[in-house]
Amino acid sequence: MSKTCLKCGKTIEEDVDDPAADKYPSCGACWKEWTTYAVTVMNELRLDMSLPEHRKALRKYERAFFGLEKGISEIEKKPDNPEGQHGHHH
Ligand SMILES: [Zn+2]
Repeated sequence: MSKTCLKCGKTIEEDVDDPAADKYPSCGACWKEWTTYAVTVMNELRLDMSLPEHRKALRKYERAFFGLEKGISEIEKKPDNPEGQHGHHH
């Protein structure tokens, strides 16, 4: 029985050596992409994997990444905004 990658829809030829890959059938390339992206998410949101709440947050992004969850957009690198947003003054 062959599995299909959730992300790209291709047939998975080799299993990804990660326990979470069972929940999210993914080809090696997409899984690698996710792990790279996960690091970005963790850094951006300052997630601490020792905290259940934070692990839950990451799981949401994981589901979103593999197209299982709607309503969460991929995080974007926010460019620094040195000019700030002042200007309105009362
Ligand atoms: Zn894939």
